[in-house]
Amino acid sequence: MTRVMLPIVLASTACLLSFAGFAQSQESVPFSDYLKQAAEKGASRWSDAKMPIKVYIKEGKGVAGYRPSFKEDLEAALKQWSTATSDRIRFQTVSPDKAAMTISWTEDRKEMMSSNEGGHTEVMPDDKGIVQVTMKLLTTELDGSVMPDAYATHLMLHEIGHALGILGHSPNPADIMYYMINPGDTNAKLSAADVVTMLKLYSPAGDSVVHKPIDLEQIEHAGDSNSPLMQAIRLNDEAAILLQNSQYAPALHKLEEAHTIAPSNALITKNLGALYANLGNIGGMMGKLADAEKYYKKAIPLLEQSPNNQTLIIVLKNYATILRSNGRLQEAVQMEAKIKNLK
Ligand SMILES: [Zn+2]
Repeated sequence: MTRVMLPIVLASTACLLSFAGFAQSQESVPFSDYLKQAAEKGASRWSDAKMPIKVYIKEGKGVAGYRPSFKEDLEAALKQWSTATSDRIRFQTVSPDKAAMTISWTEDRKEMMSSNEGGHTEVMPDDKGIVQVTMKLLTTELDGSVMPDAYATHLMLHEIGHALGILGHSPNPADIMYYMINPGDTNAKLSAADVVTMLKLYSPAGDSVVHKPIDLEQIEHAGDSNSPLMQAIRLNDEAAILLQNSQYAPALHKLEEAHTIAPSNALITKNLGALYANLGNIGGMMGKLADAEKYYKKAIPLLEQSPNNQTLIIVLKNYATILRSNGRLQEAVQMEAKIKNLK
């Protein structure tokens, strides 16, 4: 039997939008780059093999507050990051099944990690770099009013910065990656420090920060600590730490709870699917075939939701082996047909 490693740990970014009237210093502090500050809790990056980054932008029609210019703003924001880095960062628009980065729109503030976020980006790295990003962009201002294009672009540039691996923030208000964004901020241009920081991350100078493991306990969850998504992500983080210590039962309990709270969250769905797959494999290796089957049955529908079907194929193969060894040939054949369809 093939043992599947739980592939993913969480890196979730949280940034604050300031409410109108929030006083903050506009004093700018000179910085050549802010990589050290922004990578304090870890950083990641896309490997050369993943360039150009495959992006799928979901249709926004039907989302309250959405208008077609948002899509143009988003495409311009992606282009701005490419141009500013002299194409060190490149993007390619692809169909949803081929995407490594999926960007969607929402008017639902509950989909944000805290009620004062303007966008939410989840970055999933493995030991070679970022493998998947899920980004949700809000279509209205905090108070529900129309979001101007320049401000939307500012938010997009900021979230793309996270999606490229800058998981933290700049300490300088002049930078797009500053941790707080003022409503009505019309600065829709990357600063020199934003660009130099990104180039540094994607150069040998960035090796030291990306090779540092992401500290799950230290990742800051700003804002609304009681929002359902926040609770779910916290449970996911706790499960990841338990899994590092092979504590499967309590980790499973936490991930199942997280999935109940946030059933549509891609990261939690993927992690729970992978954990079921691992538990199935462990059952199979120990000869507890009924256990293995029970967990594979739970793993399959979750893994089917992930764009990467590598783990799913392994589970289906193992499951087919179990079915054959139990003389359930017809079911085994069905399982094998399913594998063929996936390849
Ligand atoms: Zn941020």
